[in-house]
This record gives sequence, structure tokens and C-alpha cells, in this order.
Amino acid sequence: MAATSVKSPTRKNGSSVASARRLKPEQIPGEVQDVLASTQVIDIHTHLFSPAFGKVGLWGIDELLTYHYLEAEFFRSSDTTPEEYWKLSKPERADAIWKALFAENSPISESTRGVVAVLNAFGLPAEASGLQEARRFFAVQSLESHIRKVLQIAGVSSVVMTNDPLDPDERPVWMSGGQSHPQFHAVLRLDRILWGWPQHWQQLANQGYAVDEDASGKSAAEVRRFLADWHKRMRPLYMAVSLADTFQYPDDSITSKILSEAVLPSCRELGLPMSLMIGVRRQVNPRLRLAGDAVGKADMRAVENLCRTFPDNRFLVSVLSRENQHELAVYARKFNNLMPFGCWWFLNNPSIVEEITRERIELLGTSFIPQHSDARVLEQVIYKWQNTRRTLAPILANSYQLLHADGAEITRQKIQRDVNRLFRGNFEKWTGLRAG
Ligand SMILES: [Zn+2]
Repeated sequence: MAATSVKSPTRKNGSSVASARRLKPEQIPGEVQDVLASTQVIDIHTHLFSPAFGKVGLWGIDELLTYHYLEAEFFRSSDTTPEEYWKLSKPERADAIWKALFAENSPISESTRGVVAVLNAFGLPAEASGLQEARRFFAVQSLESHIRKVLQIAGVSSVVMTNDPLDPDERPVWMSGGQSHPQFHAVLRLDRILWGWPQHWQQLANQGYAVDEDASGKSAAEVRRFLADWHKRMRPLYMAVSLADTFQYPDDSITSKILSEAVLPSCRELGLPMSLMIGVRRQVNPRLRLAGDAVGKADMRAVENLCRTFPDNRFLVSVLSRENQHELAVYARKFNNLMPFGCWWFLNNPSIVEEITRERIELLGTSFIPQHSDARVLEQVIYKWQNTRRTLAPILANSYQLLHADGAEITRQKIQRDVNRLFRGNFEKWTGLRAG
């Protein structure tokens, strides 16, 4: 029941003799499970923040319960209207969600089950009466050591943040020296610039960059200067943007113009990959606020056009629609500057992760990044990575058993090499992140 019984990521790989031993088919599942449990992953996309960002970083039981995934589910199991809900304080919202989704119903959905797994990892009761005990537990944690403990339980060596240089809450931290926590890496997120230009160009102008509303004239060169300045400040591992299902490239939009004339040239110059997360249908129900976004099938020719037009850029791509997954894997076979990654948001459910991961292994071997947590609340990395390991173990084991049946020798060493590549090496190589 205690957290540390979940897994022990510090375990060594055993002697080279043992890891070179040929495995019998029936030994493969156990070895795969063990390698997955003992391999520290790099969580390549989260919305977590290091302690330097103060209250911007979310953690604790009330944040876990008011995660927007749970808010969306709450309105299906409660008569409370969104308008009534938004008037409540955070603890009152958490109380309402706890009552509706954990006391009056069984928390069998993926995101509610995740809260139970987190409570269990800390030895806290998940019964209806347990909420106050959980609150007392989180209230006395000191953030620095709590972060260390959470990442250790999750088997995560480091997490990648999402950092928006135009976010008024983040900016002061970066302007006063930034952050240097060794387990948190920065990412330069460009949503406000790439598709929010009409509402945000003025902020760049106010900071002394000679840009205009139509992104014409010197604007592209000035955005490049802005990115170079922020690269110095943040030391990001990549640049990133989330894009709607309607995203097209090329077209005559400001997004296409800034992407091709400013962002991608900067990525080449600075040696950074560009991450595209495509497929959100924004605010289909604005009453739900952050929980009001949905999914739409994107036109994957935009990705094809980008990969072909910019062979010297590297693209990390994740698509939200289940219907886009096969095309993404096929494009990755055509373009080695395309790295598919993750199964996020509405895809991060065991049945869908299983389908997508099998498809990717069959088409791409180990040349993709299976998962990232997308965690918004610190402790979510515990359940998200526990679930990823649990879902992936039988898929990988099946791949090795098939390979064995086809005549190959399977050893722990080979399994370890492949798992390292999937959960660390592919990302380290693309971003130049040093191991260790
Ligand atoms: Zn995200």
C-alpha cells in the first residue's frame, strides 16, 4: 500500500552475464515488466513547474480533484450547473467533485481512477471519508522534497515544462534569473505568437520588437530576435505549439507566415526541434472553460508539407484524433525528421494507448516516443506513468515473443536497450539533452 512498493526504479540491471542470457518465451513478460519498472523515463511534455515558479505550479489533493478532466466528468454526474460550480471556492469545488465522482459513484474512469492510485501511492485511504486525511497529508509536505519523492515514485528522472514567454505569471520568473532545478527542463511555447498573434503582437511591440499587426515588414526578423533572446533566458529543449484540427500548411494565414519565416528558421539556427500538437477543437462548450475543448480530425498533409519543405528542421508531432494516428505513423516512415510522440488527453486511455502503440511498433520499431504525461498537477505523474508501464508491458512482451517465435534470441540486454531508446534515447538525441 505504501508508495515505494509500486516499483523500485533504482534497481540495477543485473550482471552482464544475466542480462545477456537468452530468455525463454515464458520469461519475457516478467523481464519486460522489470525493465520498464526500473527504467527512469524522461517526461517530455508536462504543464508542471519547478518551485521557482511558486503558485504557478499545481500540486495536492484539491488540484488533483479539480483537474479539468474531472470537471468534465463531474457535470455528467451532478445537477450543479457550470455557472454554479465556477462560483465555488477551490476546496468547495473539490468537495463537490469528490462527492459526485468518488462517494456517490465508483471512480472507474481513467482520470478518477488516477486520483485513487495517487492516494494509494502515499498510503492514504481512497474511501469517501478519506478526503480530510488527504488534505492534512498534503498540507504538511515541503514542496522541494515532495517533488523529489513524487518523481521517484513515478520513476521519472526529469520533466519538461511548458513555458510561455508572454504568460504574465511566468514572465517575472524568467526576467529575474529563471530556474535551474536539475529535474525540470524548459520549453518555449509559442501559442500566443503563432495563432494568437492578433491579440498578442502588441506585447512584443511593447517589449521593443518592431512587429506589426499583419506580421509584415521586419516582423519575421524581429520575432527571430525575440526567440533568440528567450532562448538565452530559458535554455529550452524545443519550441512548441498546440494547433487546432483546422491547421493547414501552407496557407496565407499569419500562423503559416510566422512559422515558416521566423519560428522554423530560429529552430534551425538554435538547433531545436519544433513540437506540434495538433487536433484540438477549442471551446466547443465555453461554459466548461478549460474542460470545454474537444477533438477534431486534422488534415495530416500539413505535417507532410512541413516535413518535406523543411528537411533541416526536426518535428516532434502528436495528434489528438484517433483517426489521425495511422497517417502520422506512415508519415514518420517517409520523413526521418518526424518523431511521433505520446497519446494525450482523450487518447490517454489504456484501450487507445494499446492500439496506437501496437501500430507504432509495427510500423516504426523503436523509432518513436511512446508517451508523455501531460500532467498539470504534480502527483499525476505517479498514476500516468504507472498506467503507461502497465499498458505497455504486455505490448512489448508480445513483440519480443513474436520475434522469438520467428527465430531471434531475446535477452534482457536487448529489452533494456530498446526501452532506453523509447523512453529516453530518442528524446535525448533529438534535443541534445545529456544523459544523467
Ligand atoms: Zn499539454
